[in-house]
Amino acid sequence: MEGLTGSEIAGFAVGALLVCATVAAQRVDGLIATSQRTSLSMCKRCGDLRVVACSQCKGTGSVRKGGMFTSGMLDDIYESLGAETKTSNLVPCIKCQSKGRLLCPDCSKVR
Ligand SMILES: [Zn+2]
Ligand SMILES: [Zn+2]
Repeated sequence: MEGLTGSEIAGFAVGALLVCATVAAQRVDGLIATSQRTSLSMCKRCGDLRVVACSQCKGTGSVRKGGMFTSGMLDDIYESLGAETKTSNLVPCIKCQSKGRLLCPDCSKVR
């Protein structure tokens, strides 16, 4: 280390610091994204869209008649064969009124 001048050492130090700062910044960025949402009172669940995809129909707005336990497999087979079972066996989703989306439970609580 005797051959190094002060400015060279300083250069190394700054270089190392910059690397640390870059790495830290990326991590802080992730932290800020989450905390920013909270501090901006943005919803963590929906990102302030105020709607979430319906869990019942997976956002499609319709569910299979009789639920998922009856002949779901058979329907899939018929569908793959080109039979028109899909529409005839689908009923509007009651949970979301066939919208495919629901009011975000977190946001609607605040309201
Ligand atoms: Zn639904
Ligand atoms: Zn929300």
